[in-house]
Amino acid sequence: MTFKNLNIISPILVALEHQGYLTPTPIQEQAIPFIQQGRDLIGCAQTGTGKTAAFTIPILQHLSERAPKKAKAIRSLILTPTRELAIQISDNITCYGKNLKLKHTPIFGGVSQVNQVKALRTGTDILIATPGRLMDLMQQGHVDLSQIEIFVLDEADRMLDMGFVRDVQKIVAKLPPARQTLFFSATMPASIKKLADSMLRNPATVTV
Ligand code: AMP
Repeated sequence: MTFKNLNIISPILVALEHQGYLTPTPIQEQAIPFIQQGRDLIGCAQTGTGKTAAFTIPILQHLSERAPKKAKAIRSLILTPTRELAIQISDNITCYGKNLKLKHTPIFGGVSQVNQVKALRTGTDILIATPGRLMDLMQQGHVDLSQIEIFVLDEADRMLDMGFVRDVQKIVAKLPPARQTLFFSATMPASIKKLADSMLRNPATVTV
């Protein structure tokens, strides 16, 4: 199996080759086709399995193949529990998307919001956010989530452990119902399954 067999478009293939990635990892091989079909997905995978590329590659491909319905709209939201993960996801997108014209912005707490608000004003296709800072910026009217096409909840079990579930639920309530949702968690206890059921429609499940 190669990335080419997964029907990845050439600007992304070239970037992956540059990075030395020729073979998809099991989570990528299994999840990418479902995501390309527009299915909702539950991905049961730990950090280190290549799960970030499993969702960022098809998101980049989806957005680059379709024109935005509204100028400057945020079209994909990736929620992740920590600043470190937000930066890591953002770095991955920089790498895989370097031959595309899509913009992405990481927003997280613990730093001034000034530059984050500036980036939002100029427009961003993909927003990578931690829940607390996103809630703050939404309440101040800096973020419009009405045009989201693909929503990712990354590390759902850690979100729950860190007490972010209420914030996550409030954010999800602002998303358009006709969206694709990708839900990743390292573990799947009943509480996580329940959270998944509340935000996914007929999901495919991939476990690695
Ligand atoms: P993640 O599970 O997303 O944290 O990824 C773990 C590490 O694997 C990261 O350093 C990625 O850059 C790397 N990686 C992701 N996909 C591949 C791949 N197909 N081949 C080789 N390395 C990869």
